[in-house]
Amino acid sequence: MSASVAPASVSPAAVAPLLEVEGLAKYFATGGGLLKRAEPRLRAVDGVSFSLQRGETLCLVGESGCGKSTVGKLILRLIEPSAGAIRIDGTDVTQAKGQALRAFRKRVQMIFQDPFASLNPRLKAATIVSEPLENYGILSAEERREKVADLFARVGLRPEAAHKFPFEFSGGQRQRIGIARALALSPDLIVADEPVSALDVSVQAQVLNLLVDLREALGLAYLFISHDLGVVEHIAHRVAVMYLGRIVEIGGKERIFDAPRHPYTQALMAAAPVADPRLRRERIVLEGDVPSPPDPPKGCAFHPRCPYAFDRCRVETPVLTPRSAGHLAACHLE
Ligand code: SF4
Repeated sequence: MSASVAPASVSPAAVAPLLEVEGLAKYFATGGGLLKRAEPRLRAVDGVSFSLQRGETLCLVGESGCGKSTVGKLILRLIEPSAGAIRIDGTDVTQAKGQALRAFRKRVQMIFQDPFASLNPRLKAATIVSEPLENYGILSAEERREKVADLFARVGLRPEAAHKFPFEFSGGQRQRIGIARALALSPDLIVADEPVSALDVSVQAQVLNLLVDLREALGLAYLFISHDLGVVEHIAHRVAVMYLGRIVEIGGKERIFDAPRHPYTQALMAAAPVADPRLRRERIVLEGDVPSPPDPPKGCAFHPRCPYAFDRCRVETPVLTPRSAGHLAACHLE
């Protein structure tokens, strides 16, 4: 199932999805023991579907271990899916290899969580940013130098920063280098996995504002993975909430934040800090622990923790159903 709402900045002519993900799944074997019975499988991602428009930011949220980072790796083709399809501009790239995979990777880049670990400490900043251009044989040496200078300016780094090594930068500056590197090949889509969670709070807003500015200026789409709802509220057009490998609710940011329909989303929102205590939402206390991923509960996987669970929830898995325009939730409650 696909649910998409074009953000205000996207023109009607650009409604064909940039990215479509359909029934995406990733199962990991967890060992079958000596008798080689059917191996239990950890369903890290279990039938995830969504689409993403040009210029749009879809945030994937959920607790640690819900599968959101695995979705990012699948879309980047860093790991192979067990089932499902990934399409870019309508072209199926799920099994793309060789030149087709290389062309796909040029269009889909990544920003990492830890800007220090993701930068080669032995390379100067200019070399790090220029590397993707060299790998793809794009531009002459002189043109690459100009392009790198332009990228440094775009991400707010001074020209002299080009000649420094990663250890000479602050965390925020290192993430700017990582963003410049991700932009080098002029991608259409950036998968950003917790890109500001390793930064000081004071720096987070600066980097988020930079990402928003770049999105507006370059028409970029972001698949933005985060556990921090404050960050998500800042950057999202739409939000998909994941629980035990599945999307349990997806919709426009305002719907998800102001009128969540799934009890799990309601619990996440209630637990999120708010600046104004008068706006604090009614607290929903989640019962029990997150279930074991290799052995998820029958029916609705959330039922052992759900304060509203009833008999049907224990036997029947709810599917995503529309609640309002572009807003779907997987819950038996109306
Ligand atoms: Fe709760 Fe049942 Fe809805 Fe699952 S389907 S979230 S258990 S009410």
